[in-house]
Amino acid sequence: MPAQTYLFPCLSDNYGVLLHDPATGATASIDAPEAAPVEAALQAKGWKLTDILVTHHHADHTDGIAALKKKYNCRVVAPKAEAARIPLVDETVSEGNKVSVGKLSANVIETPGHTSGHISYWFHGDKLAFVGDTLFSIGCGRVIEGTAEQMWQSLLKLRDLPDDTQIYCGHEYTEANIRFARTIEPDNAKLAAREAEVKQLRARKAPTIPVALGDEKAANCFLRADLPEVAASVGMAGKPAAQVFAEVRARKNKF
Ligand code: ZN
Ligand code: FE
Repeated sequence: MPAQTYLFPCLSDNYGVLLHDPATGATASIDAPEAAPVEAALQAKGWKLTDILVTHHHADHTDGIAALKKKYNCRVVAPKAEAARIPLVDETVSEGNKVSVGKLSANVIETPGHTSGHISYWFHGDKLAFVGDTLFSIGCGRVIEGTAEQMWQSLLKLRDLPDDTQIYCGHEYTEANIRFARTIEPDNAKLAAREAEVKQLRARKAPTIPVALGDEKAANCFLRADLPEVAASVGMAGKPAAQVFAEVRARKNKF
């Protein structure tokens, strides 16, 4: 039976998302920005929390863990490299490990850069990827603990997933990301189309997430740093992709 998902806002601009296996009733919360909206979402769907899958240690992804664990006694799965910085971890995972939610199965992909141990969960059978703060729609996470080279390699790993993978990220940043991306690729027609779509969605406060990876590849300049037109637009024609990526990321930080 195919997985079901339920996306809902948390804090000021975070997303919570529940992943439900209808065959077994198992339900995972991807990260736990805060407990109350997760509980409200569970109630709205009539689902019972069995697992929390953590992408990285930042408080806006982990602050809800303690209260949810206390109420549901759910299993907390977290990146091995950050387990010491995440509360109440039951199981640590790293590159290549598999994580089950009922009969649903994910591969763990290490995607460091935003934080040093950030991971993403790829449910290949259901064409879903939960990428935390590594990849955003038309953007990517700030490089806080890792290097730009590391972040670029992490984005390449995600870019390699099938085009029809639905990407769930941790924040609603799409409008601001598009304003910036237009400065890098003003003539990208796919980006213009995404801008029009996002304008309509946000006008009625609808989420711009999830998004198909294939669409992101066509419009997200951070996934396109190895294209000659992106390098040229930042005055770095012929330079290595990781350097171009670093420049685009640096410009976004100042934007
Ligand atoms: Zn973060
Ligand atoms: Fe975050």
